[in-house]
Amino acid sequence: MVINMAANATEAELQHVIERVKECGFQPHLTRGTERSIVAAVGSGGARSALEALKAAPGVEDVVPIAHPFKLVSKQTRGARSSVKIGNVCIGGAEAVVIAGPCSVESRDQILSTARAVRSAGATMLRGGAYKPRTSPYDFQGLGLEALQLLSEARNETGLPVVTEVMSTEDVPLIAEHVDMLQVGARNMQNFSLLRRLARVDKPILLKRGPSASVREWLLAAEYLLSGGNCNVVLCERGIKTFETEMRNTLDLAAVALVRELSHLPVIVDPSHGTGRRELIQPVSRAALAIGADGLIIEVHPCPERALSDGAQSLNLSEFSLMMKGLTAPIRTLATTSR
Ligand code: PEP
Ligand code: MN
Repeated sequence: MVINMAANATEAELQHVIERVKECGFQPHLTRGTERSIVAAVGSGGARSALEALKAAPGVEDVVPIAHPFKLVSKQTRGARSSVKIGNVCIGGAEAVVIAGPCSVESRDQILSTARAVRSAGATMLRGGAYKPRTSPYDFQGLGLEALQLLSEARNETGLPVVTEVMSTEDVPLIAEHVDMLQVGARNMQNFSLLRRLARVDKPILLKRGPSASVREWLLAAEYLLSGGNCNVVLCERGIKTFETEMRNTLDLAAVALVRELSHLPVIVDPSHGTGRRELIQPVSRAALAIGADGLIIEVHPCPERALSDGAQSLNLSEFSLMMKGLTAPIRTLATTSR
């Protein structure tokens, strides 16, 4: 249930409602809005009728059921859209954020030259895989710890916050120590033990949509993070499996608009994995921003033909710079964010 407090409710009235929610056997989740506060009462096993009776409590405007199973993720429990801070960068603000970098960190020179180039082209965050989820066990699996150290070095030199994928619960502490945001890859979207572990991490999470996941499943995966205590979640649409074969995946841009209706969480788009084709990155990026995406994550490599993973969908440094110039939506630059 959602308990909407009146605009003139006092702090004591709010605290009373929070206490009563606990007494009724639910967990209270408070959002202090600019005009009014909202208390979401979530959990199972509590007494719903006792919650409904809170309509009569002082300072309460109304008590309504939460319309969706993804309760804390739902826009209803929050009132307004939320934003997520990663260092100086804010995803979900007025300007879109561009995250760029190689699919995999391959060498010091590769990641540093990419970081410098994407920064001067206007990217605000750096991506780079250290632990790679590869379809074949014979493919490049990532440099692991060495890649994490190189990502830290690139962040220290350029100021770009860094995001990398975490595949296993046992890697969480090490990865969280080195990077600014942890990515849950598409293949792990429903790895519930990983989600529960990441709910206890004090770092923001980038949650990719599973290749065969419905929007509801995706938002419920995010609910694991929020209900476990991590509210700093950014969603990422990266394409789903369909009968289409000319593209690597089918990028579901309508889902971006839908998620913005259903949820308060920021949502970004990955046109690289979404299409698998570098010539489509620019038009699809423009479309993503036009439909309301809060940002983009794009694969960039100094020499895509030599990339150890995802070369065909990676832009080279000058193509990335041209792509950035072709974006018409306002883009957050590092200079703006650190002011
Ligand atoms: C990636 O970002 O390199 C990646 C493997 O993405 P996804 O999980 O969306 O396939
Ligand atoms: Mn990739």
